Amino acid sequence: MAQSVVQPTAGTTTPLRLPIRAVLPWAAFFGVLMLALLYFVGAEQGATSVFSGTGVHEWVHDGRHLLGFPCH
Ligand SMILES: [Zn+2]
Repeated sequence: MAQSVVQPTAGTTTPLRLPIRAVLPWAAFFGVLMLALLYFVGAEQGATSVFSGTGVHEWVHDGRHLLGFPCH
């Protein structure tokens, strides 16, 4: 009893095409989001503080030390 074996064809891959017009708004959105996060972790303290008090600073305090920002 013979069984047929399907051989994979070699060399038939096509390169992935990224539609720049579809990706660009998401890249801009996440870029702005990451900049806001970087601000809150790295500079939300003292004279550059947007929110009064130390609530935001205390909330991101461990991340601040983890990323090497000067703190105390
Ligand atoms: Zn600290």
